[in-house]
Amino acid sequence: MKGGLLSNSLGSLLNNCLHILQMGVTQPCVLCGARVQGRLICSACDADLPKLPAQRCPLCARPAPGGLVCGACLKKQPAFERCEAVYVYDFPLDVLIRQCKYHGAQELAEPFACALAHRLAELPRPDFIVPMPLHPARLRERGFNQALEIAHRLGARLDLPVRHACQRLRNTPPQAGLDLQARKRNLRGAFTCDESSAGARIALLDDVMTSGSSLNELARAARRAGAVDISAWVVARTL
Ligand SMILES: [Zn+2]
Ligand SMILES: [Zn+2]
Repeated sequence: MKGGLLSNSLGSLLNNCLHILQMGVTQPCVLCGARVQGRLICSACDADLPKLPAQRCPLCARPAPGGLVCGACLKKQPAFERCEAVYVYDFPLDVLIRQCKYHGAQELAEPFACALAHRLAELPRPDFIVPMPLHPARLRERGFNQALEIAHRLGARLDLPVRHACQRLRNTPPQAGLDLQARKRNLRGAFTCDESSAGARIALLDDVMTSGSSLNELARAARRAGAVDISAWVVARTL
């Protein structure tokens, strides 16, 4: 893989993040298979993870000149107040996210949480984190909720509680392959949030934001339940 996409500081951050406890254990890099010691990803693959530029729309995290609110958000503001994301959902990050989500590579939640924690370190803290809920049927099928896995690890790093304040009422078909209108229809009324959101500042957490429809619908449900300030935190953003 070619290198040089990332700054040295991010490289060293990721080195730090991808560090796992079993020092001295050699294992294949999850991306390229090269043997690495005590880490999940080799340095070369680390350096290639696609990061979002520093200048992003504060509302949706898309790259935006000057870090100003983007045209799409000016036209229609999301239901959340702000969005933070670390990576572009592009190769090879997409591979890692899919491994985390569908192949039970839950240990990948750790570097994702670490990267998010670094991004969020200087920002105001919410009262608690709410992971994007999975429908119970989907949870049974998959065995775990990757958003919850990341939320727990992020909560530990930021010293923030994680609350299951929202539930998914309908087992909606996967969003992938649907156009924007269909995504919105698919999700209408899909979530409900309990009274713990009333008066709270919350951060909704998901692994990937594509159209933003899921997080937007979840934010609407949280708002109906009385949340006063809503952030969206995601590992990766589709551009
Ligand atoms: Zn590698
Ligand atoms: Zn925007």
